[in-house]
Amino acid sequence: MAAPLPPLREVIREFDLRAKKSFGQNFLLDLNLTRKIARVAGDLSDSVVYEVGPGPGGLTRGLLEEGAKRVVAVEMDSRCLPALEQVSQAFDGRLTVHQGDALDMEEPALLDPQPGEKLRIASNLPYNVGTMLLIKWLTLEDWKPWFASLTLMFQREVAERIVAKPGTKAYGRLSVLAQWRGNVRIAVNVPAAAFTPPPKVASAVIHFEPSEPMDETVQLKDLELVVERAFGQRRKMMRASLKSLPVNALELLNRADIPETSRAEDVSVEDFVRLARIYREMLNT
Ligand code: SAM
Repeated sequence: MAAPLPPLREVIREFDLRAKKSFGQNFLLDLNLTRKIARVAGDLSDSVVYEVGPGPGGLTRGLLEEGAKRVVAVEMDSRCLPALEQVSQAFDGRLTVHQGDALDMEEPALLDPQPGEKLRIASNLPYNVGTMLLIKWLTLEDWKPWFASLTLMFQREVAERIVAKPGTKAYGRLSVLAQWRGNVRIAVNVPAAAFTPPPKVASAVIHFEPSEPMDETVQLKDLELVVERAFGQRRKMMRASLKSLPVNALELLNRADIPETSRAEDVSVEDFVRLARIYREMLNT
């Protein structure tokens, strides 16, 4: 059972944790909200949760209160470490904190899972590196990945791009990559006023669970290339936007059964995956 901890406003005052823009710091101080986000992550009782950027520890407390077996956190701002040490003590050492940059971490080694433990990621990500981290986790060569789920806060506009369906303005590279790798939804909408200090825009929490590969033969680099070319000129027809590929674009589209006149935003994830497979076949013949 957790020993009582002071309210987060007091923690921020006591340890002088004034938010710094350079660290992308917008803190969540409402512990009901952080528990709600922690519940989105699923049953945590058998899970080691990786948290990027715990800051003063609001979401961290939520995860621990919702029963996470362990939380392993990486925080860049050393000012937060004494506050997080207090959280660790209150929760009987179930929290371990490393100081560093999450972009450099080799997560499985850091989390050191024991037999039967699931690994999950749950974070209120710093805006300046959030998309980079998501791409890092979605572009692992080995799929299925080391994590069972991602529960991540993004700016709402980015969250909408991640879950966007074809035929919408928000549909793009991030949508194809995320939906190729798994099932994703927006789980909680969070207004700007929920943060201290409030950012300029609203946020949303997405929940992602990896799925089996759609097509084992498709290579990540091929999918990334065709998607990058297609959306690089999203207003153009695919027969024009794919022209820069080193294969005949018309033949590629015909073989993939995709109309030459379609635009990138009309092409489904499944169609992009087929396009990437046929692109590789054409390159190899
Ligand atoms: N989790 C806290 C909350 O919900 O109140 C803080 C979230 S704040 C949006 C982002 C946190 O990530 C900050 O504490 C910041 O210092 C930390 N951070 C920023 N860049 C980081 C990086 N590259 N690696 C690890 N932590 C980082």
